[in-house]
Amino acid sequence: MTDRTDRPSAATRQRRAATTPSANPLLDPITGFLTRRACLQAAIALAAEAATVATGLSAIWLDIDRFRQVNESFGHSAGDRVIAHIAERIRALAGVQCRLSRMGDDEFVVLAPGFDQASANDLARRLLLEIRRPLHVDELVIHPSVSIGLAVKLCDEEPVVWLERADRAMSEAKRRGRNRLVTSGDELLTRRLGVELAREELAIENALHRALENGELCLHFQPIVRPSGGVEAVEALMRCAVDGHQITPARFIPVAEKTGLIVRLGEWSLFQGARCAARLREQGTPTKMAINVSRAQLISPKFTQALHAALVCANLPPDLLELELTESLFMDLAPPVQANLGAARAAGVGLAIDDFGTGFSCLSTLKDLSANKLKLDRSFASVLPTDRRSFAVVKAMTSLGSELGMTVVAEGVENPAQLAALAEAAVDATQGFFHARPMPEPALMAWMAQRLQ
Ligand code: C2E
Ligand code: MG
Ligand code: MG
Repeated sequence: MTDRTDRPSAATRQRRAATTPSANPLLDPITGFLTRRACLQAAIALAAEAATVATGLSAIWLDIDRFRQVNESFGHSAGDRVIAHIAERIRALAGVQCRLSRMGDDEFVVLAPGFDQASANDLARRLLLEIRRPLHVDELVIHPSVSIGLAVKLCDEEPVVWLERADRAMSEAKRRGRNRLVTSGDELLTRRLGVELAREELAIENALHRALENGELCLHFQPIVRPSGGVEAVEALMRCAVDGHQITPARFIPVAEKTGLIVRLGEWSLFQGARCAARLREQGTPTKMAINVSRAQLISPKFTQALHAALVCANLPPDLLELELTESLFMDLAPPVQANLGAARAAGVGLAIDDFGTGFSCLSTLKDLSANKLKLDRSFASVLPTDRRSFAVVKAMTSLGSELGMTVVAEGVENPAQLAALAEAAVDATQGFFHARPMPEPALMAWMAQRLQ
């Protein structure tokens, strides 16, 4: 059945008119929903409330299928109207206790306090059916559909991690052919049994323990290069070999984070990275060493101690060390994290926001951060120079980062055309296979020495 009267009510239109971007930057002007940033803040607040009253808390992540097609075929103004109608459908079903957010062009999140697995599942299914109803926009009849991911918040789970699970479940719904609901956890079970996965994780955990004890861990190093050819910094990337076989960081870092082993691994990489930086300095090529740091490390009050110890043991000036942190970490700065980051800055150690543009933050959050470097995620460079919209985004981010006094680095440069586009966007430096792949220390030393000649 089609619905010709599926239009926002007068009261809603009025409410929306009153919520212009200038009136309230936390609300999306088209839908009146919370913005991406406000969503994370709401998730943090709801998680804190749920912890005290011990009720269920669910996140339902919705992504309108093939929305780009609507935009491209009928124009952005029709696209906006479709979004407004769909938002109305979500609002009508979600009920007043839910917090509604618009995460991007065609993505929404419903934060549902008091909803356990069963009730959240019921709401998500009703949303799936409701959004599927044909929609009249002007003379057009559109048959929308939606991919939905559902995640019920786990006890002690970080709000950011909880939202990421909902997002991943939604991506899995898309992968399975769209127009469906996937609950977080189920997406792995289709391909691999949960037991099998747990066994694999256990094997990786054992391998990491063994690698730490037997010296099978090592760091590889990748330079970050300025347009002049000078080296802005070197990033240390952990490598783990077990019985001669490499396990990629994408596999072992999540396991290390889950099991808490990352604290030991991270400390190890801090010490080794600082030592390598000291050797570069001794060789006459003093260069900043960037070390990746996980949230679990920064929660520990011992982090500052370890950082100072690494600098002292290597006899390294603090300005030759930089910590790389993913942007989601900056969005939820717990007091111990703030204290550790503050101590690092006070000591003169640099802070870089890694993989910028992939997490939950938005440009306006940059003004509140104490980081001095912005690393743009490699998804931006990968579509250059053809994708002019990405180019415009890179240019804007670079200009804003520079205004804020940050060094802007683009990751993932693989060819000269990408490099030229990034130079046009005026980034301060680039990193990627085009310059050099991550390499063991002897190769790095040779690479650096050669550049000096
Ligand atoms: P990251 O910090 O964003 O590091 C950059 C990743 O991009 C590295 O992957 C690097 O090999 C890869 N890369 C560099 N240039 C290119 C390119 O041109 N094309 C492509 N396709 N890839 C490129 P890697 O070494 O596999 O590390 C993956 C992630 O694992 C790192 O991402 C970082 O988040 C994490 N990681 C690595 N070492 C550590 C560590 O010591 N501690 C922590 N906490 N995380 C680490
Ligand atoms: Mg990094
Ligand atoms: Mg990165």
